[in-house]
Amino acid sequence: MRNHDILIVGAGLAGIRAAVAAAPDLDVAIVSKVHPVRSHSVAAQGGINAALHPNDSWESHAFDTTKGSGYLGDQDAIEVMCQEGPADILELERLGAIFSRNEQGQIAQRPFGGAGYPRTCYAADRTGHSLLHAMYEQLLKKGVFVYEEWYVLSLIVEDKVCRGVVAMDVRRGELHAIGAKAVIFATGGYGRVYSSSTNAAINTGDGMSMAFRAGTPLMDMEFVQFHPTTLRETGILITEGARGEGGYLLNTLGERFMGRYDSQRMELATRDFVSRCEQQEIEEGRGVDGCVLLDLRHLGRKKILERLPQIRELAISFVGVDPIESPIPVRPGAHYSMGGIRTNAWCETELAGFYAAGECACVSVHGANRLGGNSLLETIVFGRRAGLRATDYARRIKTSPVSPAVLRAAQEKIDRLLKRTSGERIGPLREEVGAAMTEHLGIFRTRKRMEGALEKIREVRKRYENIYLEDRGKIFNAELTNALELGSLIDLAETIVVGAIGREESRGSHYRQDFPNRNDAQWLKHTLIYGSDSGPRIDFTPVTITRFPVPV
Ligand SMILES: Cc1cc2nc3c(=O)[nH]c(=O)nc-3n(C[C@H](O)[C@H](O)[C@H](O)COP(=O)(O)OP(=O)(O)OC[C@H]3O[C@@H](n4cnc5c(N)ncnc54)[C@H](O)[C@@H]3O)c2cc1C
Repeated sequence: MRNHDILIVGAGLAGIRAAVAAAPDLDVAIVSKVHPVRSHSVAAQGGINAALHPNDSWESHAFDTTKGSGYLGDQDAIEVMCQEGPADILELERLGAIFSRNEQGQIAQRPFGGAGYPRTCYAADRTGHSLLHAMYEQLLKKGVFVYEEWYVLSLIVEDKVCRGVVAMDVRRGELHAIGAKAVIFATGGYGRVYSSSTNAAINTGDGMSMAFRAGTPLMDMEFVQFHPTTLRETGILITEGARGEGGYLLNTLGERFMGRYDSQRMELATRDFVSRCEQQEIEEGRGVDGCVLLDLRHLGRKKILERLPQIRELAISFVGVDPIESPIPVRPGAHYSMGGIRTNAWCETELAGFYAAGECACVSVHGANRLGGNSLLETIVFGRRAGLRATDYARRIKTSPVSPAVLRAAQEKIDRLLKRTSGERIGPLREEVGAAMTEHLGIFRTRKRMEGALEKIREVRKRYENIYLEDRGKIFNAELTNALELGSLIDLAETIVVGAIGREESRGSHYRQDFPNRNDAQWLKHTLIYGSDSGPRIDFTPVTITRFPVPV
């Protein structure tokens, strides 16, 4: 059996940062269902926040993050992220990450929504590409063993301690138990639970689902970020950097409508708010073909080519619009999971030996709404912390062999699925989950609509028990991995809906038309979703408040 001191699942920014931070004398390995540089971090566009300028401060960053989170973010974790962020950015630079520069040759920073100071560092509109490639070089330099194109199916938990994972070598279709003293999940988000999303097809929230199935609670799952500017039809992201550089949002009357909603912050209000304003414009008949328009023309050719080249290419390729000449049709779209595996500020979960960092975790620095640029920062700061803390733990723990029964049970499950010759195909089930979530768990929510979605998801779950696959082969069986991913999506859809029905107030990205106000007296608390025999069970835990009391 394979064994390591630390096993990291996920080779995006959080996972690689954890691997690079782990002690060099330990045996560290990383697993990814795709080649590491195809992890979704590579697609990040607009930038990464840190208070680098002498006129800015980590305290201001922490305040903006807390306020933007609807005061639901845990302030101990927010302080850690904002305080440690600047050094982490400089470390990335030393490790070879390329950043755009200002005229003085320093790392350039642009304004982002909800930020009181321009503190978003960027590499044009390809920031994730620059960071992930630089970190991947470090991973190779460190000689970390990479299980490339291995799909992790479940955590191995014995005597309430995490002892490794069961994983499939996708290239050969073989299952393996991989033992580890410490396991770190850095498995990214679940954007694909919605039928239209800015996320890649691989973002199916597998890690969150596996943790949930292993008994670890998911926190604040009702908070799903809808990004204000995604392309018509495809839902591809147009970075907030486009508004940071000065882009306007227009309605069909040619009006900069944000002036009516927030005349101070205009297009750079927080994402939850801008998305709601856009949706209201569209629903009240001032949209353009179900969209609003993002106008960049006044920025001029030079600035667009220099700072937003990828955005221009995407708009030309996917909607046939050159933003130098015409406004881009955009609409709000599912983008980011604020909720996830509950951890503390050292990325520890409730399960000994099991850590989580990055988008799959809820540490919680984003609370009810994430500020743009804070997610990349979270991956870097908490990825590093997870690597350090797992190192300490792995040094104290002795390896004990994993029972062979774990692997046998997983193999039997896969064999049963591959042997079934009739039943339902997975494609329609996935579409039905995505459609129910898009229709009923969008920007505006009501109990009645969400209960309809829950009923649909539970019906799909039953039908999922009876799926069958056309492809029974072993080598690169994508239908099999898609079927496993569908299982994750169903779990997560259900936890999102249960959390959203449970929270009877409006806060950040969770807007209830039947409870339109924020209710701090009753709801300044996190939701926790645990698995149980009768379906997900909801519980609550207090928010950590340190320096920013909730205004009354
Ligand atoms: C289009 C887009 C643009 C964005 N731009 C920005 C931005 O400018 N600034 C910002 O702060 N944030 C941005 N975000 C958010 C940010 O990019 C992500 O939250 C962040 O990169 C997530 O990193 P991660 O390391 O947690 O996960 P990911 O980079 O998503 O990596 C997940 C890893 O887990 C692996 N994995 C998952 N499941 C399994 C499994 N079952 N078995 C094995 N491996 C598995 C995957 O292979 C992958 O390696 C953007 C998001 C999108 C969608």
